[in-house]
Amino acid sequence: MELTFKEFLQGGKEQLARAGFAEVEAEHLLAHTLGISRMDLHNPLTVENALSAIGDLTIAEETYWKLLDRRCAHEPLQYLTGVAYFRHLELKVGPGVLVPRPESELLVEAVLTHLEKLPGAVSVVDLGSGSGALALAIATEAPRTHVIAVEKSADAIHWLKENVSFIDEKVRILESDVATALEGVKCDVVIANPPYIPDSEVLPKDVATHEPAVALFGGPDGMRAPRLFISAAARLLKPGGFLAIEHHETQAAEVGDVLTVEFEDILLHKDLNGRPRFTTAVRR
Ligand code: GLN
Repeated sequence: MELTFKEFLQGGKEQLARAGFAEVEAEHLLAHTLGISRMDLHNPLTVENALSAIGDLTIAEETYWKLLDRRCAHEPLQYLTGVAYFRHLELKVGPGVLVPRPESELLVEAVLTHLEKLPGAVSVVDLGSGSGALALAIATEAPRTHVIAVEKSADAIHWLKENVSFIDEKVRILESDVATALEGVKCDVVIANPPYIPDSEVLPKDVATHEPAVALFGGPDGMRAPRLFISAAARLLKPGGFLAIEHHETQAAEVGDVLTVEFEDILLHKDLNGRPRFTTAVRR
């Protein structure tokens, strides 16, 4: 007997729950299969139209069960749907690029607050831009900015280009290593979410088996990349320029120490769970 749409959804939820995943992900995967929004799953007319557009219900069913199996094998939900939500943006993501995390949204907030105090056009460099989440959030929420997104990974650049072309073509993409990027250039603001996880840290299976190690691991103590990013920021920023850098919750003191050499007004910020997750500072 053919399953009804509701049974479809319920079956997916049960499969996910048995494997230890959140039931709500079945809604995301079914909505993605049907090409509609998650909210529209509750609108019988939209569902009916989507199903008849696909034509054969068994095709939709097969796609959906395959996606559920892949999710149960720990592929990140956002890689399966191809979309990650970050602030007001819908970013395209997939294998080869880090899925933007909600805690980075707060770093954007702190940068926007700083930008409000600056008159006229402001130059912003995003070091290690990945999907472009930080760069595009700043560019769209602070239209007076000129944003350059620096990224070295060709796989990540594929997604960065997609996102820049769909969201804000004014963001400039620079394929370069952070250490040597934009030599001779000075800017007002640097933002960065470097790879900062200590190499030995055991990550959740979704992250460890599917997300790019180059975007995650920052050397034996995780600080190799943050040090390099901070020195690039010191080189790029004008005196009085502003840096916002994300880090591991265990790195607050070390990041602060590294910053004291060339920065002042060093301020540690916590995420919504109260963990110290990023630091802002002003170039001397
Ligand atoms: N916040 C990410 C995580 O916990 C790591 C991001 C990074 O290393 N920049 O998986």
